[in-house]
Amino acid sequence: MKINPRKIKKHMIYTIKELSEALGVTKKTCFRWIEKGLKIVPGGKNPILIRGGDVKEFIRRKNLKRKFKMNRSQFNCLHCKGPVYAKRGSIRKMSGRKTALCRVCNRKIVRII
Ligand SMILES: [Zn+2]
Repeated sequence: MKINPRKIKKHMIYTIKELSEALGVTKKTCFRWIEKGLKIVPGGKNPILIRGGDVKEFIRRKNLKRKFKMNRSQFNCLHCKGPVYAKRGSIRKMSGRKTALCRVCNRKIVRII
């Protein structure tokens, strides 16, 4: 299952319960992520608290790793479901991300930088 990190707000702090509800996963999954390296807020183990930014980063990396390795000039096209190249001249840089048009299907593609 692919998890959408956009459902998480970067500057919010989540409990396991809130996290599982926000992402539509079980609490068990959240605990497994922590075992696999999802950072928790230091000092607070009861309840366990997790920063939104850390969750986003963890999920983003996890999603990428599972699917494919992209090279630096490729984008992930949600429509083509894989790494694609941008259409020539379509790349726009915005704060923290690049957007472009997919060379295959001509839809918008985004790459976080
Ligand atoms: Zn595409």
